[in-house]
Amino acid sequence: VPIADLLRRPAGIIGSANSAGHPDIPLPADLYRPQRENSHGIEFGERAALDRLTAAITAQRQAEPDAVASSTTDEANAAVAAARRGFKAWNATPAGRRAEILDKAADMLEQRRAHLIALLQGEGGKTLDDALSEVREATDFCRYYAALGRKLFGGSETMPGPTGESNVLALRGRGTFVAISPWNFPLAIFLGQVTAALMAGNAVVAKPAEQTPRIATEAIRLLHEAGVPASALHLVQGDGAVGAALVAHPDIAGVVFTGSTDVARSINRTLAAKDGPIVPLIAETGGINAMIVDATALPEQVADDVVTSAFRSAGQRCSALRLLFVQDDVADRMIEMIAGAARELKIGDPSDLSTHVGPVIDAEAKQRLDAHIALMKRNARVHFEGRAPAGNFVAPHIFELSHAGQLTEEVFGPILHVVRYRAERLADVLAAIEATGFGLTLGIHSRIEDTVDDVIDRLAVGNIYVNRNMIGAVVGVQPFGGSGLSGTGPKAGGPHYLARFATEQTVTINT
Ligand code: GLU
Repeated sequence: VPIADLLRRPAGIIGSANSAGHPDIPLPADLYRPQRENSHGIEFGERAALDRLTAAITAQRQAEPDAVASSTTDEANAAVAAARRGFKAWNATPAGRRAEILDKAADMLEQRRAHLIALLQGEGGKTLDDALSEVREATDFCRYYAALGRKLFGGSETMPGPTGESNVLALRGRGTFVAISPWNFPLAIFLGQVTAALMAGNAVVAKPAEQTPRIATEAIRLLHEAGVPASALHLVQGDGAVGAALVAHPDIAGVVFTGSTDVARSINRTLAAKDGPIVPLIAETGGINAMIVDATALPEQVADDVVTSAFRSAGQRCSALRLLFVQDDVADRMIEMIAGAARELKIGDPSDLSTHVGPVIDAEAKQRLDAHIALMKRNARVHFEGRAPAGNFVAPHIFELSHAGQLTEEVFGPILHVVRYRAERLADVLAAIEATGFGLTLGIHSRIEDTVDDVIDRLAVGNIYVNRNMIGAVVGVQPFGGSGLSGTGPKAGGPHYLARFATEQTVTINT
């Protein structure tokens, strides 16, 4: 499939691309040779071909940053209208068939893994490791929601009939769901939202982040090819204005959103202000995620887990560690070890196998992070400052704050803030974490069971990780999502997620 084809508009994809003027970058024929796994998880006999493709996508993106056209408001409205027409037939399609299509999509994701990895590297700046995990996560979402959907939507539940009537409860689709997704997991979160909504019987209008339109286009093509009817699944491209138009549309039945708390709030306001049906929002937003390390923790393990949690994926995960609380007795040694581990990180070309930290998503993100680093250099103690090559790279940094309140917002990059605490003041640490208002992820490194139990009881945080790193929730294993300022609570990749996309219908028959 030439790249130019990727950017054309197949049925059901609205405003996704200008088809004119794209260099025709041929996909190497050997890219789809079966791959053998190695300890790295992947071995490309065709590594050179992958590199060529990644380079071609990168070059095309740089030469034509606006190659993917933004949809107009009219196109966004047309997509909702078309989805509305497609909904009935899709909702009436047996759940078993919908699940079969998602399983097929999972197989296709695996078959096209190399191509998707090249897109994730070339457009999303992902390291090979991260790109590989992301394709796996996307595949997991498809299979997990297919299996769950067969169970939840495959039949109805017979309720008790104490009065002699028959009572049956069934789940069904709500209508048209708008899915608005972020650039940091342009394949996994994008497909996770879309497949959950589809599995529940909804038609979908998907609006991916404007930074990663090519990956989204490819993902939607794949779902259409797997068997999702074009009438049930539509893609519109563009920035927040396009998303806002979709959310404001009178005919939508639900919104699923991952991104910033501010945008989630504004979506909520729009939905609340509309006349007509009350439309639910499923939101997963950010966090000022903390980790607590006490004097009983194992230093080597802490160093490894902190560096992974704070710097992997260039810190561009909602789950990433931002605020590290270290017990003062061990703080000097811990910080030194963490800085030592950070010093080993290689920052640079994401397609290079030895790279640990790739670029941040764009120049705007780099500017924002650089400004925060400058601010911290004035107001905090610098423990570690990595070196980054030229381009949109931000080196890992470690700063020590005098108190947690100095960090007032989520900083979405490889910047770690450390605060020391005294053992007898652990309660203050918990209060500081609560005071952020966020509740997405939390790490605890401690060998004292009572401490661990107390922290878990006290804090309303969505995902808590004890004595390990705090990123990379696995679908069906660590259902993911937060509360408070971090989201509305539903857990992606968990057993209750699909029900949030559905309506329930009880039928009582007087027999
Ligand atoms: N699920 C991802 C993780 O556990 C984070 C998702 C996000 O960044 O939104 O690391």
